[in-house]
Amino acid sequence: MKKYIPSILLFCLFETVAVSLWLAKDNLFYLLNFTYIGGCIAGGLALFVRGKRYARRFVQFAVGSYMLVYLGIICRENMQIEGLWYYLFLGVFEAAVIHYAVAKIFGPLFFGRGWCGYACWTAMVLDLLPYKRPEGLRRRLGYIRYIVFALSFAVVTGLFLMKAADLEEMMFRLFIGGNLLYYAVGIILAVVFRDNRAFCKYICPVTVFLKPMSYYSMLRVHCDESKCIQCGKCLKACPMDVEVNRESRKRRNATECILCYECVKECPVKALR
Ligand code: SF4
Ligand code: SF4
Ligand code: SF4
Repeated sequence: MKKYIPSILLFCLFETVAVSLWLAKDNLFYLLNFTYIGGCIAGGLALFVRGKRYARRFVQFAVGSYMLVYLGIICRENMQIEGLWYYLFLGVFEAAVIHYAVAKIFGPLFFGRGWCGYACWTAMVLDLLPYKRPEGLRRRLGYIRYIVFALSFAVVTGLFLMKAADLEEMMFRLFIGGNLLYYAVGIILAVVFRDNRAFCKYICPVTVFLKPMSYYSMLRVHCDESKCIQCGKCLKACPMDVEVNRESRKRRNATECILCYECVKECPVKALR
């Protein structure tokens, strides 16, 4: 049972959020929504500790497709960053605001960029491409994420300032258009740079929140440097170019880690955990 304790704790964390929001907002949806997401993540973690290689993909599809298809397309909620700005402008604590608070702003203090490794519907598709290990050197293009972040804010601000008619419909169209654009850009970049996660490294505006918060994450990959034989296998396996064979939080690209644990699987001396 001991090895399932992290799964149980993670489920309890999500259940606390589920029950708190259900009671605070008097809306059963929050209980079902966070129970489902917490159940998928905890189940995936349990599969992982049992050594199932498909564990991460299971969670990615179970959570990612639920959010994209059910919440986004069927319920017409814009769960992208524009949806966050939209609800903040309306001054309500709903949908995308809750999603961002839990998964992308405060949650990363506990589980780092787990969202990026296990739940993001953009990466769910990009991870199907053949370049799981980046084949070229990392480029200095990370500044683009700040431009995209500012643009997303400017678009929603513009819609409010222009008092656009039927803003709700407009946000739904932005969600569909934005996702199609993200998939197209993500796939093109992955092929050109031979790197499935190029979009995450250079373009994604969500990382403006994720990177600083995940720096302080409780959950992180540890390296016992005294055991490390500098074979470099972990560095080759890492899709995010993290210098994981150093223990320091200041290791290169530390805030890029998506907790996929590919490095841990590769280490021949079990220096990583
Ligand atoms: S960086 Fe952005 S696109 Fe990549 S997995 Fe994270 S949230 Fe998704
Ligand atoms: S391979 Fe290791 S260091 Fe790289 S992203 Fe995955 S868990 Fe993080
Ligand atoms: S795989 Fe293990 S031994 Fe090799 S460099 Fe990484 S941490 Fe060190």
